[in-house]
Amino acid sequence: MSVKAIVQTGVRAIEMREFERPAIHDDDALLRIEQSGVCGSDWSQFKMGAPANVIPGHEPIGTIEEIGPLAAARWGVEVGARVAIETMLPCGFCRHCIRGQYNHCRASGPMIHAYGYRNIDEAPSLWGGHAEYMYLDPHTLLHRIAPDTPAELAVMFNPLGAGVRWAHRVPGTGIGDTVVVLGCGQRGLAAVIAAREAGAGTVIVTGLAADEFKLEIARKFGADHTINVDTTSVIDAVQEISDGEGADVVVEVTSGATAPVGDAIEIVARRGTVVLAGLKYGKVPEFDANKVMSKEIRIQGALAVDYDSYEAAIHIIEGGRYPLELMHTHTIPLSECERALHVLGGEVEGEQGIHISLVPD
Ligand SMILES: [Zn+2]
Ligand SMILES: [Zn+2]
Repeated sequence: MSVKAIVQTGVRAIEMREFERPAIHDDDALLRIEQSGVCGSDWSQFKMGAPANVIPGHEPIGTIEEIGPLAAARWGVEVGARVAIETMLPCGFCRHCIRGQYNHCRASGPMIHAYGYRNIDEAPSLWGGHAEYMYLDPHTLLHRIAPDTPAELAVMFNPLGAGVRWAHRVPGTGIGDTVVVLGCGQRGLAAVIAAREAGAGTVIVTGLAADEFKLEIARKFGADHTINVDTTSVIDAVQEISDGEGADVVVEVTSGATAPVGDAIEIVARRGTVVLAGLKYGKVPEFDANKVMSKEIRIQGALAVDYDSYEAAIHIIEGGRYPLELMHTHTIPLSECERALHVLGGEVEGEQGIHISLVPD
C-alpha cells in the first residue's frame, strides 16, 4: 500500500507524492489522518520554500491504524483510538525536557524535532500531517479526543492550546483581570476564549478594518470590546476602557508588524505582563526600556504549546460552550493543499480564512 502526502519542494512549490507504508515495530505506530490543521507557519514555509523536502503539517488528528505493543502500553491507546498529535518530538533526556520545557528540547533544535519539519530522506519519510498517514515516532506526545467530537472542532486543538498557554498559563491571568489581545487571527481568537476561561473581567481585542468579521467572532467568543486599529488609537481606547489603569495582561499575537510591541508596553498596567507570541519580520526599532523599568513590566516570550495547555484546549472543545465552528472557515481536500494555503494567506479574492483544515481525499 502506498501513502499520498504533500511535499514542500521549494519556494511556493508543493506537490503530491506517494510513499511506501512504513513497517511498524514494537515502539511506534501509524496514524490514519482524519484532518490536518493548516498553520500560519505552513503559509510562511510555502512562501519561503524552507525547510524544503518535508511533508508539512504539524497539527493533525486521526486514529491509530497500527501500533506496536510497547507504544500501546506507554501511550495507553489501541488500534482505532482517536488522538490529537503534538507538534514537538522531544528527546526526553536533555536539560529542558527534564524540566518539562520540552518546546526547548536541545536534541537537534525545534525545527528538526517536530512533525512537519523533518526531511523526507529520513526514514520512514512520513513526518508530516498533510498526508493520508503519519508515522508516530516513539517520542510522540498524543492526547485522546472523544469519538463524538466533530472533526472540524477537534482539529483546532493546537491554536486553542496556544491560546490557553499564551493568554492564561504563561501570564497567570486571574479572576477579574483586564486582558488585551493584540491581533485576531486564529490564535488571537483562541486567546479570547482562554482569557474568558481564566476568569478575566474585561477582554479587549484589536484588529484591522479588514478583520471586522474576525472581531465579530471575538465578540461572540466573549470579548467585551473590539478595537479597529485603522480608525482608533489602541492606547487611547485601552486607557479609556480601563480608567487609566491599563491592562493586567497584554497578549501580542499579530504577525509581522513591530508597532504592536510598542503599544503593548504603553497599554500594560503597572506590574502587568506582556506576552510576546507573534513572529515578527524584523527587530522592534524603538523600545522604551524606561517604561519597562518604571512600570515594573514583565515581558515574557511564548513559543508553542505545552502538554497541559493541549489538555485544557481539548477540554474546552469537548465542553461545547463556545461557538468554535465560527472560527473554522474551511475544510479542504488534501489534493487542494495549495488552495488552502492561498486562502489562509489571504490571496484568494472573496474568501476569508481563519482556521482551515485538510482532509485526505
Ligand atoms: Zn502550527
Ligand atoms: Zn530534549
